[in-house]
Amino acid sequence: MLSSASRPQRRWFVWSLWTVCCLLLPANCLLSVQNLANAQDSVTEQPQVSPPNILFIFSDDHAVQAIGAYGSTLNQTPHLDRLAAQGMIFDRSYCTNSICGPSRASILTGLHSHLNGFRRNGDRFDGSQWVFPRALQENGYQTALIGKWHLESDPTGFDYWKILPGQGHYYNPDFIHMDKSRQRDPGYCTDLITEDSIQWLEKRDRSKPFLLMSQHKAPHRNWAPHPRHFGRYKLGSNPVPATLRDDYSGRSRTLADSEMSIRNHFYWGHDMKFHGPNQLPQYFLDGIPNGEYARMSDEQKAQWDAYYQPENDAFLAQVQAGELSDDEVLLWKYQRYMHDYLGSVQAVDDSVGRLLDYLDQSGLAENTIVVYASDQGFYLGEHGWYDKRWMFEESFRMPLIVRWPGQVPAGTRSSALVQNIDYAPTFLQAAGIEVPAQVQGRSLLPVLQSDGQAPSGWRDALYYAYYENDSVHEVAVHDGVRTDRYKLMFFPRTNEWNLFDLESDPQELRSVHEDPQYQAVLAGMKQRYRDLRGYYGVNSATIPVTRGDEAWWKARDREKSALAKQQAYPLVFIGDSITQGWEGPGKEAWEEHFAGGPALNLGFSGDRTEHVLWRLQQGQLGISRPSAVVLLIGTNNTGHRMQAPAEIAEGVSAIVAELRKRTPESKIIVLGILPRGESALDAMRLNNVAVNQQLRRLDDGQHVFFHDLSSVFLESDGSLSREIMPDLLHLSPTAYHRWAEALVPLLP
Ligand code: CA
Repeated sequence: MLSSASRPQRRWFVWSLWTVCCLLLPANCLLSVQNLANAQDSVTEQPQVSPPNILFIFSDDHAVQAIGAYGSTLNQTPHLDRLAAQGMIFDRSYCTNSICGPSRASILTGLHSHLNGFRRNGDRFDGSQWVFPRALQENGYQTALIGKWHLESDPTGFDYWKILPGQGHYYNPDFIHMDKSRQRDPGYCTDLITEDSIQWLEKRDRSKPFLLMSQHKAPHRNWAPHPRHFGRYKLGSNPVPATLRDDYSGRSRTLADSEMSIRNHFYWGHDMKFHGPNQLPQYFLDGIPNGEYARMSDEQKAQWDAYYQPENDAFLAQVQAGELSDDEVLLWKYQRYMHDYLGSVQAVDDSVGRLLDYLDQSGLAENTIVVYASDQGFYLGEHGWYDKRWMFEESFRMPLIVRWPGQVPAGTRSSALVQNIDYAPTFLQAAGIEVPAQVQGRSLLPVLQSDGQAPSGWRDALYYAYYENDSVHEVAVHDGVRTDRYKLMFFPRTNEWNLFDLESDPQELRSVHEDPQYQAVLAGMKQRYRDLRGYYGVNSATIPVTRGDEAWWKARDREKSALAKQQAYPLVFIGDSITQGWEGPGKEAWEEHFAGGPALNLGFSGDRTEHVLWRLQQGQLGISRPSAVVLLIGTNNTGHRMQAPAEIAEGVSAIVAELRKRTPESKIIVLGILPRGESALDAMRLNNVAVNQQLRRLDDGQHVFFHDLSSVFLESDGSLSREIMPDLLHLSPTAYHRWAEALVPLLP
């Protein structure tokens, strides 16, 4: 990339040249000049054309099913439709990770979640990493962000920002300003963000091109529409999706475990907008009132109640009179949900209209790229759900509409496979800025400039990963690959594969992974899955993940973390079931050699390197800065996944790095993964041997020490006896004694 110092001067020259070109050439020639300049940009320092302004209008949880231009049967969005008619609609636009914060982080960095570090809501975005707004800023752009941010840390790369705290509110929202002050603005959030956006455009430095990210809270839960949209999508008028009563059969068993169904997981107050205590506990969850109502002025409350109260009263009376079946209650909930969701969308559409009008009136429309997107899709009753998270189409898809007069032909559609990591390189290339090599997305310019056709060599498949676990909605961790026609999903907790043929089963109601006719497809998709994970640098051994959805694990985590907060332990053991076994068959040896330390046992049965990483990052060491840590981990990466030795070694290495960071004075004793399987030629044993070869390199002779104690457990011919390891994996009491005796001399 060009240095920030040299770039602006070149820009001025470039813009002057563009102005001259504009005066001399007809429009079709201008495009050629632009293309020529783009083509040469990566090679030489050729003069360039005027950088376009970028207006990025971004909403939260706006599904394509609720956009007219995408063929909505639910609502009308005239302003988004106008944008689409003047630009290009992407029909196969997807996110990397279907949840608010992670999608935003991928957009900013052009990276998948595991590399930008924001894998789940509640993570803290590292704003010191490369983000595209800063690259634009350093190249002469004026940059601003107004509205929802949701990445915990302060925005970076912006000349101006004004953000909602966390999720933000619809009514009379608070905003955080650049000086960290908080202020409550009276009014409706979507309108306020629109007005602030226009105000910033008015006040901006007109000598520079701009990037404005105008980011709405709407239509995020809890879907509180503006009074002007009350009754627009009224009860009973909204078409019901065919899969509202999905029974989740024929797919991963984790579907039925999730908690995001309209039938069972709507709150009485928060979602359904009733006041007071829950009068229908058989149908609604308790505990979260409608927080928006509490923020309203008396006048707003009066308007709200005038609309909602009669409907609520009528429904309650009908249920109490026994007039409604369970299914009719489900339909009522769906209708209320749609009224509120679509009403919230409507204000976003209004906002698009106001911003487009402003661009027209201010003469900015011609040289401004307008992008409309939302951080992910959403379930509008499909599969019986609300919310997002899954790799199924409704939440995996993102709306993406791009208008760029003179560059993008009006009224075009693209079916190229695109992803939110592509936005950053697209904006950079549009601005004539070189895209850094680490960015994983690809510029959409070649698609935008060829009527939406994917150029030769465009991507054939997308990689997706959802990491959030043990949290609201209980959606299982999963990842997968989507091609034009097929989708492969993997659920590590249950070790299940799902395969969908999107041509014959667009609603994804039946996994065909066991269908004999699809075995070749399954094999091909698995290969593509492995290869894409390799291409994007996904190594699950190094990506921290909880097992908090397993009750015993969560309880043990809680218990151990509490112990570690109460006292400092001079000796800590970290690992899986073999370490946990000091509390079982190894108890006697433990009492004899270590208990007096006192020592802390952080062994968790079944854990892999990624789980240990998660535990350490959550602070499981507590107040302990032990003189020695004994780490034995990795055999489950072999046993459950047969992961490549290099990947497992990277996982162990990441744990050692985490320990070094958290307890720099400790002696870290990394043990070679213990032998398993009867013979020396057992495939899993050999995998562990290969890991150990690599772990040896971690030994620095100062803080980290590697010891392979295999010989303690093996017979002279290299075999394992059942007296030592009854199941050829776990240790007998005798083996624990041997292990303890071998360990003691290694401790400080
Ligand atoms: Ca979202």
